[in-house]
Amino acid sequence: MMKQKIQLSDYEVDETYEFVAKNSTDPWISDILNELEADIDKSEPFKKGKLEISFEVLRRVAKPLADHLTIKGYFEADYQTPCVRCLKLTDQHIESDIFGAWVNESLMKLPEFEDECFRINGHEYDLYTLDKGAIDLKEFIHEQVFMNVPFLPLHDENCKGLCQKCGVNLNETSCSHQSEMDSPQH
Ligand SMILES: [Zn+2]
Ligand SMILES: [Zn+2]
Repeated sequence: MMKQKIQLSDYEVDETYEFVAKNSTDPWISDILNELEADIDKSEPFKKGKLEISFEVLRRVAKPLADHLTIKGYFEADYQTPCVRCLKLTDQHIESDIFGAWVNESLMKLPEFEDECFRINGHEYDLYTLDKGAIDLKEFIHEQVFMNVPFLPLHDENCKGLCQKCGVNLNETSCSHQSEMDSPQH
């Protein structure tokens, strides 16, 4: 089980620590998954999703970031969400590399860190501020996951949706309102 908040001081400098956090073992990951599934009508049957993050934690003391901690990893999520047009549950798969670096607050005020990112070994790391020496992993993972969530999920790109007047599913049937809406208005 992985803690939601970790402390910089719990890690030895230049040691790499590897972790896996997932919804089946870590309640705070399960919270993020529940948020991905928030639009599902839970009174109907649905396939419970999964969210898993593999990452390594590395504390380094080096210029220009001084004493800092980096997280480099990868997440994968499978979950269901309703199609925005017809509400049919649709399978979603998202995955991405994640890169984060936590530095002392005073550093974030320097002009070179204005963009809130920093390149280390060819990768762009998002910069975050240490909060009393602590890192909130949940906040970080939540942000990284939701950056990758499709804004308008569709069960099929040609989904015809529901009739706006009577609510029938136009993928399955048709109704008199469609011809009305298609014809030019006078
Ligand atoms: Zn649909
Ligand atoms: Zn209709």
